[in-house]
Amino acid sequence: MPLLKQIAEQLRDADNFLVLAHISPDGDALGSMLAMGELLDALGKKVVLFNESGIPLRFEWLAPKREILTRLPEEEPDNLIVLDCGSAERAGELIAPWLKTKNVFNIDHHLGNPMFGTVNWVEQRASSVGEMVGMLARKLGVPLVGLLGEYVYLALISDTGDFCFNNTRPETLEMAAEILRLGLLPGPFHEQKQSTGKLSQLQMRGTVLQQARLYADGQISLICFTRELFEQTGTGPEDTEGLVNTVLYVNGVQVAISLREEEQGIKFSLRSKSSTNVQAVAFRFGGGGHRNAAGGTLLMDMEQAKTTMIQAVTEELANS
Ligand code: 5GP
Ligand code: MN
Repeated sequence: MPLLKQIAEQLRDADNFLVLAHISPDGDALGSMLAMGELLDALGKKVVLFNESGIPLRFEWLAPKREILTRLPEEEPDNLIVLDCGSAERAGELIAPWLKTKNVFNIDHHLGNPMFGTVNWVEQRASSVGEMVGMLARKLGVPLVGLLGEYVYLALISDTGDFCFNNTRPETLEMAAEILRLGLLPGPFHEQKQSTGKLSQLQMRGTVLQQARLYADGQISLICFTRELFEQTGTGPEDTEGLVNTVLYVNGVQVAISLREEEQGIKFSLRSKSSTNVQAVAFRFGGGGHRNAAGGTLLMDMEQAKTTMIQAVTEELANS
């Protein structure tokens, strides 16, 4: 039986679920989790939402009607639905014991997902996990209307860069069209999603862009966010979102690297134009992601991280 049908039937047959997505959730993680909550509501199921690191400030406008727990609930669920987690570790530490003992639906679209679930539906061609939740809703006869539509749409636009990236497929746009037909207004939705930054954020980003550099004959662009800059400007890791895409679109650049100093090590984000596989680079350093967007953490200081990443990306460029 096709997996989609099998999962749809299993969701219909089960009673209670804990739904979660990866830590430091992005628009796909949050969108797919909230959409799954709405879908299970529509089916009359008992649902708890969980994310170990909580809802980031830039998504507070979503104001979900159901609390997203940052601790495990006292009442143990029978089923876990794990969304957008390319590996079990991405789900966080608190949930790890339950991943071994519960019935786990691993629903994801990352390359190299190690199939840690009881049931594993990993669709690398799907633009986003939100698109996969939308497919499930269709299969279960639940229309993508109201909040369910909004949450799926948030996931679609987040992971496709507003329908610009390679992962935008005809099915993605057909799903977006269906959501618009059912009433979502893209203009106001987009304004709400984007209007979350402060002036200090823009100014900090301006400083980072001024310090951006090119390497490998202009094929690599690099930006760095230091803790010192965050302190000076009253900003933080949240304010870095998406800037790596800006430096990818310098003429001639094939790969953009963003490095962010964290308490432990350097968080790296990689973006590439079509031909270069940055997932392969991230994977070498224990990270992961997709062909054109990947990330991970380096346990070293900023200077070492710069040298390490520039070298690794240069090697990958030579292979592609
Ligand atoms: P970002 O650069 O926006 O943090 O992430 C880009 C892509 O890489 C996303 O698909 C994300 O799930 C993946 N990614 C980011 N950081 C990590 C990591 O530490 N480990 C793994 N496995 N994937 C990551
Ligand atoms: Mn995703």
